[in-house]
Amino acid sequence: MTNVSNPYLTVKAVAKKRLATPIALVCAFFGVAVAYSTVELFLRGETGSGVISCFLFAAVMTPVYRIFRHAYRKLSARRIAEALIPLSEESLTFDQLQTVLSSEKAIQQIKTLIGKGYLQNLQIDLAERTVALYVPEDSFVRWVCPGCGAKNRARKGGALRCKYCDQPFAKEQPKQL
Ligand SMILES: [Zn+2]
Repeated sequence: MTNVSNPYLTVKAVAKKRLATPIALVCAFFGVAVAYSTVELFLRGETGSGVISCFLFAAVMTPVYRIFRHAYRKLSARRIAEALIPLSEESLTFDQLQTVLSSEKAIQQIKTLIGKGYLQNLQIDLAERTVALYVPEDSFVRWVCPGCGAKNRARKGGALRCKYCDQPFAKEQPKQL
C-alpha cells in the first residue's frame, strides 16, 4: 500500500479496523428494528415508551454514524495527502492549496483532519494564510556534481540536474552522499 509512506497521513488514517463493518451492520440492523417499533409505539399512542425508544434508536445508531464518519475522514485525508505528495514547496498559500485540491473548503477540511488526528506534518498559519508542508528528508537525493563539484539536493522523481551548472545527475558516479 502506497499510503503507508505518505508523511501527511497519521497511523489513524491508514489503520484498518477489521470489526468496523460487522459492527456497523449489526447496529444498523437493530437500528431498523428499533425505528420500526418506535413508529409502532407512537401510532398506538404510547408516547412515553416511544420517547424511550427514540433514545434507544439514537444509542444504536451512534456507532454506525461514527464508523461512517471515520471512513469518510480517512478517505478525505488520503485524497488530500496524495495530492500533496508531488509538491516540493515548503509552504503554500491558501489559494494555491485550494487550487491543488480543487476545493474551496480545503483549508477548513485540513484543519479538521489535523485536529481529529488524520493528517500530520502540515502547519496552518491563519495570519499569513499559508500552510507549511513538511517535506521528509528521505524523499531527497543528495549528490556531488561530477561537473563542478557542487553539493546538490533535489526531490526524488523530479529533474535531477546540478543547480549551478545544469549537469544531469549520473548514477554511476560514486559520489552520492
Ligand atoms: Zn555542477
